[in-house]
Amino acid sequence: MSRTCDVVVAGGSIAGLVFASEAAKLGLSVLVAEEHPEVGEPEKCDGLVSLKGLRKHGYPPEGGTIQDQIDSAVLHSPSGKRFTADAAALEVVVLDRSAYDKQVAAAAEAAGAAVMTGCRVGEALEMDDSVRVKVGEEEVQAKFLVDATGPASSPKHGILPAAKYEVEGEWIRQHVVEVFLDAGKYPGFFAWVIPFGKHRAKVGAAGRGVNPFKALDEFLEGRSTTVLRKVAAPIYIGGPAQSFVRGRRIFVGESAGQVKPTTAGGIMTSIAGAATAARWVSSSIHKSRPSLLDGYQKEWEGEFMKEMKTMMRLRGVFEKLSNQDLEGVFSVLAASKLAQKLSQTDFDFHATALLGALGMPGLLKIAGVVASAEVRSLLPER
Ligand SMILES: Cc1cc2nc3c(=O)[nH]c(=O)nc-3n(C[C@H](O)[C@H](O)[C@H](O)COP(=O)(O)OP(=O)(O)OC[C@H]3O[C@@H](n4cnc5c(N)ncnc54)[C@H](O)[C@@H]3O)c2cc1C
Repeated sequence: MSRTCDVVVAGGSIAGLVFASEAAKLGLSVLVAEEHPEVGEPEKCDGLVSLKGLRKHGYPPEGGTIQDQIDSAVLHSPSGKRFTADAAALEVVVLDRSAYDKQVAAAAEAAGAAVMTGCRVGEALEMDDSVRVKVGEEEVQAKFLVDATGPASSPKHGILPAAKYEVEGEWIRQHVVEVFLDAGKYPGFFAWVIPFGKHRAKVGAAGRGVNPFKALDEFLEGRSTTVLRKVAAPIYIGGPAQSFVRGRRIFVGESAGQVKPTTAGGIMTSIAGAATAARWVSSSIHKSRPSLLDGYQKEWEGEFMKEMKTMMRLRGVFEKLSNQDLEGVFSVLAASKLAQKLSQTDFDFHATALLGALGMPGLLKIAGVVASAEVRSLLPER
């Protein structure tokens, strides 16, 4: 006889584990299957996140999970102009993602979920009232299959190849995140430096149509660096998926596109998606009302869709900017009080915060220096 449970979760990273933890707390029997032999490995994420968001959703990092606290963010223009935003009040930290995922796995197991590693989820056959799922060599019958497989299932149009290295170098500034913009070298994205201790950083590069490893190697040329580890990992910038629930499959985290289209940051939005899904799946099972599952997408979109749409508009403009446009934007930013205003805003809702801080005068100035007509999409409709 095959094993039975309420929910099989494919993928034991942050979204799958938070779903499992929350669903088990709500009385569901949950089996998580992670294809890699160890939760959190291989680590691909840089772990930059705001503590506020993690606390809000019930998963603040514990013990030695925090590697650095961020005081400021420096944006560099193609010619080397700088824009510095004070981030000290925003409680932004760098997580050891591997350790953090293990922390959440322990919480899921303590709540009663089973977490299996080295175990791939394969085919799923949907029936009227259940789904039969291949979990490793076993067949498991469940009421629902939660897909938390990240980029393996996220909408393909939004995926961008990225290269990430962990490095050591005297040039790395602790507590300072650096972002390097250049439409030629990193079209549609950027190169980044995220410190995780003294003279140590997670550095990365991505861009449409470029070889990210070549771009990152060129970025590091002239910066005396020891590379500790190299990772190839796709980032997701395509916005939320059309539907989070398809039949008896429920998508959470990156597989549902619950990732910021501006920075590809997805930790907090994926945790929120997974926790929200767990509540609605639990209600649906306990009340035997499948239609309640609709509440999951509605609730997540209610919290994030306005910001996601604003981020997509910003991305639309950003992708059209030439290096000359970028230089113009940096000049406008330098002359504004933006840095001061941004220091009091919300890291998790940075697109709305940015447009709010610029206001109509700032946006009109930017429209004046940018050739692309797309920039008008940022101006409020009259
Ligand atoms: C280079 C890089 C840097 C990033 N930096 C940041 C950052 O600084 N801040 C931030 O907020 N976000 C960051 N992100 C994004 C963040 O890592 C993701 O949004 C987040 O991890 C999504 O979580 P998830 O659980 O949905 O998916 P993932 O973390 O992608 O996990 C999916 C899991 O599913 C497993 N899996 C896949 N298929 C199967 C299968 N068939 N059976 C069983 N298991 C399977 C995988 O092994 C994996 O463990 C970064 C991403 C990358 C690639």
